[in-house]
Amino acid sequence: MEVERVAVVGAGVMGRGIAHAASLGGFDVNLQDVSPEVLKSAMESIEREMKKAVERDKLDREAMHEGLGCISIIEDLKEAASDADLVIEAVPEKMDLKLEIFGRLDEWCPEHTVLATNTSTMSPTEIAAGTSRPDRCIAMHFFNPAHRMKLVELIRGLETTDETVEVARGAAEKMDKETVEVNEFPGFVTSRINCLVGNEAMNMLVEGVASATDIDKALQLGLSYPMGPLELADLVGLDTRLSNLEYLHSMLGEKYRPSPLLYKLVAAGHHGKKSGRGIYTYDEDGEKIVY
Ligand code: NAD
Repeated sequence: MEVERVAVVGAGVMGRGIAHAASLGGFDVNLQDVSPEVLKSAMESIEREMKKAVERDKLDREAMHEGLGCISIIEDLKEAASDADLVIEAVPEKMDLKLEIFGRLDEWCPEHTVLATNTSTMSPTEIAAGTSRPDRCIAMHFFNPAHRMKLVELIRGLETTDETVEVARGAAEKMDKETVEVNEFPGFVTSRINCLVGNEAMNMLVEGVASATDIDKALQLGLSYPMGPLELADLVGLDTRLSNLEYLHSMLGEKYRPSPLLYKLVAAGHHGKKSGRGIYTYDEDGEKIVY
């Protein structure tokens, strides 16, 4: 099956990056969100990111215009999904919400459409179970920022067919991604490791082991992490990280108990880079403010 049109559901941190990558991969993209403000800011941020890539000679100006021209922003889910060959869902990490959206997509999408979830931790089998097409459901786990990060983890649900895996792999490759195939297990490979390290770094901060800056610096320069785990948690979004950890805690036990600091920051509305404040503070351009 040849994918021509991709619908991306949710235009937050991940959805906008996936739409960006899909448009440069030559797909027509319907980017959907319940919030018109989020859709507007998503288009602005995709354009800003593409312009930066042009300035750095990473992207042709012509490819940028072509890519931007391929993206339609749409508020109505039925309109966005009803002509898509592949739908990639990137709404918050809440099982009830994902089940509701997959149920609607199943009703409104053509029979051949493959339904993918960008969940970081949850079971694609469970998400697919509410549909009449579990064979055409899969998890495609992109990384943040999705237009730059090279990997997509592909996770089969119990009934996902080989053909569905190949559709997802083909689409990811057209977006210039590498793929790995992972057996379904909470947190897959990457989130299982990443949530553990990030949570431990937060607990170390609570225990006063070192400052946030020094914890991040130690892991970057001492252990060759490309980015410190606390700065990465801010980039992911602390609300999203908390949902991820709560799910992993419920499935895998004590070692994933979310740090009390994470609960406190999320309760205060400090959701990381996207809200301007998390472990660190950010200016209007999303640059970390160094005191
Ligand atoms: P986010 O909160 O930044 O964005 C979610 C978007 O979904 C919001 O814009 C919201 O308005 C929209 N939304 C909410 N309900 C909706 C609905 N019913 N229909 C359409 N849109 C709706 O979240 P995010 O960080 O982009 O995460 C999305 C998914 O991707 C989650 O499952 C998360 O675990 C996963 N993920 C996140 C990261 C990361 O680094 N943030 C990385 C990989 C995977």
